[in-house]
Amino acid sequence: MQFFSDNTATVCPELIAAVTDCNTGPASAYGNDAYTKQLETVLNAWFETPVKTFVTSTGTAANALALATLCPGWGTVLCHTEAHIERDECGAPEFYSGAKLTLLDGTHAKISPATLEARLKMFVPSVHQVKPHVLSLTQATERGTVYTLDDIKALTTVARAHNLKTHMDGARFANALVSLNASPADMTWRAGIDVLSLGATKNGGFGAEVVVFFNPNDVADFEYRRKRAGHLLCKSRYIAAQLIAYVESGVWQRNAIRANAFASRLAKSAAPYLTAPVEANSLFLKLSPKHMAHLQNAGVGFYEWKGEAAEEIRLVVSWDQPEADINELCALLESL
Ligand SMILES: *Cc1c(COP(=O)(O)O)cnc(C)c1O
Repeated sequence: MQFFSDNTATVCPELIAAVTDCNTGPASAYGNDAYTKQLETVLNAWFETPVKTFVTSTGTAANALALATLCPGWGTVLCHTEAHIERDECGAPEFYSGAKLTLLDGTHAKISPATLEARLKMFVPSVHQVKPHVLSLTQATERGTVYTLDDIKALTTVARAHNLKTHMDGARFANALVSLNASPADMTWRAGIDVLSLGATKNGGFGAEVVVFFNPNDVADFEYRRKRAGHLLCKSRYIAAQLIAYVESGVWQRNAIRANAFASRLAKSAAPYLTAPVEANSLFLKLSPKHMAHLQNAGVGFYEWKGEAAEEIRLVVSWDQPEADINELCALLESL
């Protein structure tokens, strides 16, 4: 029973099939192939607006390159204290942008508009300070919560009033979409998002990430940055083919619905221990060392979470999680 992360999951058969299907004959390299071009057309339709898209092979690269494109070295990117870009990317966003991150606290890994506004008011136009350029939101968040469409709009409204762009880290974009039952357009550009790191890897893909710009003027020198970072893939078609199938076949939705539903089932059994609402496919539980050991001895794999409470754990449900795992873990949780 592996609940470490959804990146331990397999690749789903539809996406393997997409890779096999595109595996015929030569194709132009470096994104000049038909699949990579078609991906942009597919994403134009999915987002109901013309977009500019760039595949990368990791979410870290997508985030770091998107942020570097929007933020000069003397700028700053505002994000939550627990954001992946702060905690889990080995300083890649700072490395590629040269800019500093400014951390904001907020319950359940969500930034509130008031916190954002208050922090922005602390910046004064002065050569001695960095300039705020970008707000970065994670959807679904690192605590398994989801910003509502109104949450996102309220935050991007504050950001825009201060001339900031807003980036969305969508490593679990599909899980958030099905949680809100929202359209991709509603959760992004219609809510004020300027650029999205769209991840398919955790939800059934393989190295399948894409940066989506909703405003062509923001693209600037992205392509040079990506090449310089070593993320211009010469055999781009194999990533693009997965992303096309991911969107067109509805795999994104099916996989996310399943993982979220299983997480909701676990949430019922884990109710007394939850430290955050379960709105996507991750759960956070506060357990005594005895209870933690009990789960581990029963064969449940999970990470201990270094948050406010040392005895907290995170459980992440994968798209391919066997249902038997859920039944067994529910029973274990209820037996505590
Ligand atoms: C997994 C994840 C990423 C991307 O991680 P990579 O390992 O670089 O692909 C980005 N943001 C969040 C919130 C994640 O959970």
